[in-house]
Amino acid sequence: MLIRDVLDKKGTDVVTIGGERTLHDAVGLLNQHGIGALVVTGAGGQIEGILTERDILRLCGEFRLFLAGSSESDSETVPPFVRDVMTRDVVVGVPEDRVDYVMNVMTAKRIRHLPIVQEGRLAGMISIGDVVNAQVVEAEFEARMLRDYVQGRTY
Ligand code: AMP
Repeated sequence: MLIRDVLDKKGTDVVTIGGERTLHDAVGLLNQHGIGALVVTGAGGQIEGILTERDILRLCGEFRLFLAGSSESDSETVPPFVRDVMTRDVVVGVPEDRVDYVMNVMTAKRIRHLPIVQEGRLAGMISIGDVVNAQVVEAEFEARMLRDYVQGRTY
């Protein structure tokens, strides 16, 4: 199965944000869409980075954001903008990639989100959940084919 097949079912919408926006804006977008990652894009739509819930959690740990239960505020030292926190070196895939290849890339690089690009433009976003689902569907299909073959069933 190819990434293109997954995107055909899932759709190609990608939620993006500008690097000049605040982390507060980013958290709002993640919550509003119920997603775990935003692709950071420039004025021309080019990919400049990726920001995931992991980055925000790391920041919470580093700056004790809201979590310490103390009135003491660290907010002045917290990097406020998306571009200060995002990962700049973005790993991307293409629609022609095989799902099992993408699974290996995500596992090896310890990332759960992979923007898909085609001809230099964003063409979708694949999460580790999409990849696992696609592999389960493919495995079930193969098991069914093998069972039918062994039982001599034809259609
Ligand atoms: P994730 O597991 O996807 O939430 O991300 C874990 C870390 O890897 C975070 O620091 C992300 O910014 C970074 N990351 C996630 N996806 C990618 C990607 N496709 N390319 C580069 N870094 C990524």
